[in-house]
Amino acid sequence: MRPEDILLPTPAGICCKLGGFHIDPTRPVERALITHAHSDHARSGHGAVLATQETLDLMRLRYGENFAGATQAIRYGESVDLGGATVSFHPAGHVLGSAQIAVTADGLRVVASGDYKDAADPTCAPFELVACDVFITEATFALPVFRHGDADGEIAKLLASVALFPERAHLVGAYSLGKAQRVIALLRKAGYAAPIYLHGAMESISRYYAECGIALGELRAVRGTDKAALAGTITLCPPSALSDVWTRRFPDPLTAFASGWMRIRARARQYGVALPLVISDHADWPGLTATIAATGASEIWVTHGQEDALVHWCATRGLKARPLDIVGYGDEDETGGEAGNGAEQ
Ligand SMILES: [Zn+2]
Ligand SMILES: [Zn+2]
Repeated sequence: MRPEDILLPTPAGICCKLGGFHIDPTRPVERALITHAHSDHARSGHGAVLATQETLDLMRLRYGENFAGATQAIRYGESVDLGGATVSFHPAGHVLGSAQIAVTADGLRVVASGDYKDAADPTCAPFELVACDVFITEATFALPVFRHGDADGEIAKLLASVALFPERAHLVGAYSLGKAQRVIALLRKAGYAAPIYLHGAMESISRYYAECGIALGELRAVRGTDKAALAGTITLCPPSALSDVWTRRFPDPLTAFASGWMRIRARARQYGVALPLVISDHADWPGLTATIAATGASEIWVTHGQEDALVHWCATRGLKARPLDIVGYGDEDETGGEAGNGAEQ
């Protein structure tokens, strides 16, 4: 059996003919396995969806009750037989509920990791290494320049700025699903106990995280809050809101943006961000390359992002590698680095 007999890249996404399913399909299909709830991976309109409970709940929150014909929840580590294949889900460390999907048939295992990071994150289960023959990796930050460093250090910069400008409102641009809640949790970890304000686009997802037991402390809606009362506070908002008239409701706002792209100074300038915070939910270059090596896979398939650099790196290591060229990923979160795409869609 060849890896392509297990998973085959198609225009609709990665397809498993043996098991009769697609992984993170970009078009409506009969049966979809979904790695995580970001909108470029999790779309509505599939016949049946198999995913973690958190991913199903987040899809329901965003798309409504009828986002799929049928749903089935699977736990991390649990195995399900689908046709001639066995699938299991494993933590990807990307956002709440995110999973790598391992597909095994005839002793050959292919792991589709979706989006992942190997860095610590208080809002989701840590990335679990799954040994495999073929590893499908993302490549959002797959250039040696991307080294995300220590997220706690970035949070310290934000808190130093808040201390330095007690009369100003700090607006932190962060993607609505995952990044916003991670920034809040990191602020709490750093000892910041004041209420944190939320743009409307983040309210329901943040509430869901809190229901799942993620300690986010007191959260308040910006909506209806007095301008003067927002002096000295921290507000999380989608990156697109940073350049919106929405910011006029804040006293002398100071803008920050939490993204792996903030490693690139030109990006921060492009968005007019005063305080770039390098905090990413994707693996950086050392993370990607270390993870690929650690899986033991002899063949690597690379998707959405800087495919060429990673394919080249694999070749220098004697690993067989190919770009997948699937159109449709990278519409949400940091993939593509578009500031406007973090807004609720
Ligand atoms: Zn994602
Ligand atoms: Zn992605």
